[in-house]
Amino acid sequence: MFKSRGRLVVIRPRNRWTGVRARLGCAALLLALAPGAALALSELDQRIAELQEQSNLDPDKALAQLLELQPRMAAAPARTRAERLAQISATQSYLRRYDAALATAADLIAFGRAQHDDVIVVQGMRARAVALAGSDHANEAYTLALQAEKLANTTGDKTVQARAATTAGSLSTAQGNFLTALDQLQAAVQLARQAKDAPALLPNALQQLVHLHVRTGEREQAYAALGEMEKAVAATPPLPSLAIDTKFMEYEVANRFGQPQRALQALLDNLALLRKLGERRMVIAMQVNISDMYLKQHDYAQAAHYASGALQEATVRQSVLGAAKARMNLGHAYLGMGRVAEGKKAYETGLAALDQSGRGSDLQEALMEYGQALERAGDMAGAVQAYHRERKLSDEMEETQRRKSMLELQQKYETEKKQRQIELLRRESQVKGAELENRRLQQRVWWLVALACALASGVVGLLYRKVRHANARLEVKNIELKAQSTLDPLTALYNRRHFQDYMRALPERQRDAGRHTAHADDIVGALFLLDVDHFKHINDNYGHAAGDAVLKMIAENLRVVLRETDMIVRWGGEEFLAFLPAVPRHGVDDVARRILTGIASQTIRYQDQEISVNVSIGFAPFPLAPAGAPLPWERAVNLVDMALYLAKSHGRNRAYGVRGFDNFDQTSMEAIEQDLERAWRAGFVDLSVVLGGAPEPQPPAPSRQDGSVAPHTTAKAGP
Ligand code: GH3
Ligand code: MG
Ligand code: MG
Repeated sequence: MFKSRGRLVVIRPRNRWTGVRARLGCAALLLALAPGAALALSELDQRIAELQEQSNLDPDKALAQLLELQPRMAAAPARTRAERLAQISATQSYLRRYDAALATAADLIAFGRAQHDDVIVVQGMRARAVALAGSDHANEAYTLALQAEKLANTTGDKTVQARAATTAGSLSTAQGNFLTALDQLQAAVQLARQAKDAPALLPNALQQLVHLHVRTGEREQAYAALGEMEKAVAATPPLPSLAIDTKFMEYEVANRFGQPQRALQALLDNLALLRKLGERRMVIAMQVNISDMYLKQHDYAQAAHYASGALQEATVRQSVLGAAKARMNLGHAYLGMGRVAEGKKAYETGLAALDQSGRGSDLQEALMEYGQALERAGDMAGAVQAYHRERKLSDEMEETQRRKSMLELQQKYETEKKQRQIELLRRESQVKGAELENRRLQQRVWWLVALACALASGVVGLLYRKVRHANARLEVKNIELKAQSTLDPLTALYNRRHFQDYMRALPERQRDAGRHTAHADDIVGALFLLDVDHFKHINDNYGHAAGDAVLKMIAENLRVVLRETDMIVRWGGEEFLAFLPAVPRHGVDDVARRILTGIASQTIRYQDQEISVNVSIGFAPFPLAPAGAPLPWERAVNLVDMALYLAKSHGRNRAYGVRGFDNFDQTSMEAIEQDLERAWRAGFVDLSVVLGGAPEPQPPAPSRQDGSVAPHTTAKAGP
């Protein structure tokens, strides 16, 4: 194909590796569908095929026209749309617009995937492989081509399989994997023979096979494959591009295997054909190659002629590389003719242009040839210089290659490192995830524990409240019980037991204090014991309930007459005891009088009856301390009881109080307690007598032993 030829022409065929490169471009265009060859091609398919052929002669124009087809694509079948995109990408690669070619290939792959059409995906992958190979990504291109071949084999489409195998084979050749390439290309040839709808496939596959044999130096096979190719081309509808391809392969084989004349003739035929077609791009390269051939034959005049033609054309078409090659060939020819200065000048200009174009390998080869040419021309110094330059460049290129390899290695290492880091991060995140899960579980457990605790504490709290409630109720009950046990239920006065407890608990110190104050003749404690007079009669006359009411009235009265701080006790039956903790000594009798009159003055109504009662009282200061030794409270109460008995026996409604003891050294407490009245009469006891105001209401008066005491007076009885 033109594209491959175009490059091959520029890069001289004897250059071992440039030929390979050229074939990559060739592979790019193995998409061919010969116009009219297919049986039922739509008008649009025909047009695309024509443009493909045109792209070999005028790629810029062909590309523009392919792009112009865009509006018609919306309604076109998927395969037609794909064919157009493949053709656009191939043409872009041919024009060395590799970025655009890659973008178009990516679109094609995406389109194929969207259509779920692997045939289209394979087309896209091949287009991408070609663009990659052209842009110096040989390894990537090769890998992709192999993938495309594999995918193609899953489709059952012979045409796409043949195309993929051809591309893979040409790239395998480029990689130097000749055995693989042979396999692939033989398969491609077989598949192409079966794919009747695309007649250009077979010449294309055979062309790659010819090239492989040229590279591997298989003379017989190369010629055989070339013969096959010529036959295949003859069998297809005539296409200029195929004719040119065939001539070019003939040149390649002949040149490689020692038939320079035949090689030259093939090139001259091609040049004539190109001129006839009006093609001008290839013409440059073709003339350079022809001048090459003449240089080899040391026909410097012819070499210069074709080199000049190429230079002229290259200048017009602004082909920098073509001009460079043409100048170098021209220089070479001049040197051969002995026009050393001119030759060197042309050569140097060409070399400089080549240097600028960055094609190091070409430059190296060119310097080598330059050196040889100078040597032949007798310019030994120039030759040495050229060789030095070549060596230096070679070293530089090696260094660049070494750096590139190092960089690739580093990149690989970096990638692996990154991969490892990613793996590490992934593991770390896994571990973290597990940790998080653990923590979540732990939290859940804690929540459950906390819930259980809360529930338990709730229950405990409830129980506690219940217990507290019960305790409180118990306490209330206890208080009530205690109150009940200390209070008399009828009168709500303290009961006898409480008084006993109270007296027992009364601290010694307080009693001492009482004793001291007693001696100070100032404030004393006092005990009063009361007994209702003739109470039995009340019960008898009015009933027991009336008696109770009277007892209540008396209790009320005592509360009124006495102070809050005084202790009033229901001593038993109709007897009451009052303990006054602090009272002026001279006021004790007065208290007795107030009690007597207070109770006597009160009447209570009971069933239309007025009831009033008197009481008799025995009393004494407390503590009592005859001869300085205080009496126990029980003995004091006993003494007061004796005084009460005196009051009863002396007429009732009165109070008898023990005031103190006289001449105590002549008697004993026991003697006094035996008979208080006698002790009183004997002058050992000092008693005060307080008489109640009202006359005694109840009749049967007991015997009055002491009628001499005036009522309402306090008298000191004495013997
Ligand atoms: P005196 O003391 O003046 O010698 O005569 P008295 O009638 O009060 O004598 P006594 O001590 O014999 O009688 C006391 C009576 O009090 C006997 C008992 O029936 C009555 N009594 C005792 N306790 C109660 C009580 O709680 N309610 C009533 N209604 N009567 C009671
Ligand atoms: Mg009594
Ligand atoms: Mg009584």
